[in-house]
Amino acid sequence: MTQTGRLSGRIALITGASRGIGAAIAKRYAAEGAHLVLTARTEGALEEIDDAVRAAGGSATLVPLDLRQLDQIDQLGAALVERFGRLDVLVGNAGLLGDLTPVPHIAQRQWDQVMTVNVTANYRLIRSMDPLLRRSESGRAIFVSSGAAKGKAFWGLYGATKAALNTLVMSYADEMENTALRVNLVNPGPIRTAMRAQAMPGEDPMTLRTPEEITDCFVDLAAADCTRNGELVQAY
Ligand code: NDP
Repeated sequence: MTQTGRLSGRIALITGASRGIGAAIAKRYAAEGAHLVLTARTEGALEEIDDAVRAAGGSATLVPLDLRQLDQIDQLGAALVERFGRLDVLVGNAGLLGDLTPVPHIAQRQWDQVMTVNVTANYRLIRSMDPLLRRSESGRAIFVSSGAAKGKAFWGLYGATKAALNTLVMSYADEMENTALRVNLVNPGPIRTAMRAQAMPGEDPMTLRTPEEITDCFVDLAAADCTRNGELVQAY
């Protein structure tokens, strides 16, 4: 672990760390000296990220969990209190695309699942982690939004979840204005990941930025010297 990185000594929880943007943030945060708490469902993929983090001299705690099991989020909060007594950085990155379909065709089950992962789980993360973030001298919460929040054909469900996330996070940020906690959103833009390939199967992925290319703003927003609050930051 680097002792001189911008996140040296900071404890950072990242959801959706098994692949894509979350995995890239994890490796970058480790390189910047953070101790990581990594969550996702796929244990094997988390272990691969852990190997890469360790090979680079970093350290991580792996917490395989399904964010739809909302009580597990509260249990994670309790475990972090016990183990670290605080949380410096929360990155609510995990997301689910769901089927791209006309609004009248959205299946109730899809609605429930995508809403739960993209919105309800982030509300529960805020509820569980807020006391821990306030115990940090410089708590930072970052949530991953999308340009789809503005609404476009066939993206109604996913877009509605990101619009709801934006409003939830902006409200939380406003409430934190007079505290040491800083709360922001990031719009990554189109990034070369499994989710993007699912959304745009005909697109040449080599025309897209990689997750590794957009980690700078996640470091800026996680650092102790970050003063931004209540912003929707474009990663590109
Ligand atoms: P990926 O599909 O590559 O990764 C999604 C991550 O979320 C995985 O680590 C996955 O882990 C995790 N996840 C999904 N469902 C659950 C669940 N039920 N419980 C726990 N973890 C879950 O997506 P990206 O990296 O592309 O996306 C990351 C974020 O960026 C998302 O919020 C997405 O909406 C947003 N975004 C992405 C863009 C892009 O172009 N890629 C553009 C705009 C926004 P596992 O399957 O192991 O559980």
